[in-house]
Amino acid sequence: MTMKLALDDLGLSGGKPLFEQIKSVSNLVRPDIESFLSYSRQFFDAQSCTGHGPVEAKMERRLAEFHGTRNCVSFCGGFWGLVLTMKCLALPGRTEVVMPSLTYRRLADIVAWAGLTPHFCEVDPDLLCVTGETAAACINENTALILGVHPIVNCCDIDGLEALSERTGIPLMIDAVESVYESYKGRKIGSCARAECFSMQSSKLFNAFEGGYVTTNDDELAQRLRTMRDFGVGAEGIPVEACALGVQQNEMHAAMALACLDDVDEQMVANRNRYYAYRRYLADVPGIRLREFDETERCGFKNILVELLDDWPLSREATIALLNAENMLCRPYYSPPLHMKATGYPMVWGDLTQTERLAKKFLLLPCGYFVSEADIEQIALFLAFIQKNAQAITQRGLV
Ligand SMILES: *Cc1c(COP(=O)(O)O)cnc(C)c1O
Repeated sequence: MTMKLALDDLGLSGGKPLFEQIKSVSNLVRPDIESFLSYSRQFFDAQSCTGHGPVEAKMERRLAEFHGTRNCVSFCGGFWGLVLTMKCLALPGRTEVVMPSLTYRRLADIVAWAGLTPHFCEVDPDLLCVTGETAAACINENTALILGVHPIVNCCDIDGLEALSERTGIPLMIDAVESVYESYKGRKIGSCARAECFSMQSSKLFNAFEGGYVTTNDDELAQRLRTMRDFGVGAEGIPVEACALGVQQNEMHAAMALACLDDVDEQMVANRNRYYAYRRYLADVPGIRLREFDETERCGFKNILVELLDDWPLSREATIALLNAENMLCRPYYSPPLHMKATGYPMVWGDLTQTERLAKKFLLLPCGYFVSEADIEQIALFLAFIQKNAQAITQRGLV
């Protein structure tokens, strides 16, 4: 690492980057390889290399236990879990899905793949997520489904959304990818709404290389999801679903998921230590505020999200360019919001003033497996350096 003491040292000035290796803003956990291999040996020994072997079954059981739910249905990706849950839960004859615009970049595409139309609602400016109130403003006679999404730090307003669903009779499902480890008012995430959807893509808390799953206490829904996933054939091998796929999880990815599950509590502790380090070091940097986890609940501490306050002297884009040039792969948080992206499918929205304002203010800092506490100190010192020298950086035309 090269500490930055002068403007000429900046990556954007052609200086050597602060980090030799790229620092990601994703978790990128690597579980114990022996554990991965020993789970893999189980399907090899059982001579079961197709889907639906013993390791997948074990993984589904473990995940259902982890979330405290009756059912877990796994998929080869989070994408298909979301699409098929939408297909199953959307009220027939209706087309709109109420969902936030300040959210995961592919989420509206997933709704379109399910043959439905995103109707974007506002987010609560303090929680950065959909609430019962912001969703209620978008309900109409064409609303088929409410799609709650947990933000990257803490959870969305599940109580409010469940009450809205009950009041209107419109089903509620939740994209819970970012809150896999969390609790909400003491309830385990995964056990709320009609169904909750998760991803195990390599950047998430559980890394199965690729994969996803849906948790639900609704046995009928779980059965239907399985049938749609597994070529649309029922128990007797007779086709029962017209819209069928073959999108099951494979044994090797399930082995990786199990190895990660074994490690997850240690991972949480490591993430918490990184988060505490950021909290300590960023306290000395004016103009930047760390989004704090609500530690009265269970937290995974996976992502480090910061807000650039009004007195931060550089634009968010300039700040990100400076960080990127030091090999920190920092990203804007949920920006642009989904309603501002050009898509080939219809979308519906009204006034999204808060969403548009908030989409300009946040960014993700390096976190996860490859970031040490010493790195975090360097990152905070770097931010303090560009804060202090913002005027000179701008005058030099570096950003
Ligand atoms: C990653 C992610 C998904 C999609 O998961 P894949 O397994 O990559 O298809 C969906 N929603 C959120 C919030 C995500 O972060």
